[in-house]
Amino acid sequence: MGARSTGNAVAATGTWTDPDGVRRPAGEVHAWRSGTNQTVCGLSLHRSRLTRFPHVAWADVQPATGAHADQVAVVCPRCAAAMGRRRDERRWSRTHPRP
Ligand SMILES: [Zn+2]
Repeated sequence: MGARSTGNAVAATGTWTDPDGVRRPAGEVHAWRSGTNQTVCGLSLHRSRLTRFPHVAWADVQPATGAHADQVAVVCPRCAAAMGRRRDERRWSRTHPRP
């Protein structure tokens, strides 16, 4: 993976600020690629009033494994399906180690 693969970010319906003063997503989260103006599932960020989180990775908002999923209520199933097919997260190999 090169530097270009850092584009997998998050858009969400809500925002909260963690104890370190960093904005984190809340409510319903979608996958978003920085530089685009719609989510991976095709929603317009503007029309759906979604907030962008270019500094938060998709993997970090997964309730099962993510470090910043505390306030996440819903993970968009269409985005999850699209992102799951990519399988480009290093985390996966750590969760399911196979020699
Ligand atoms: Zn979505």
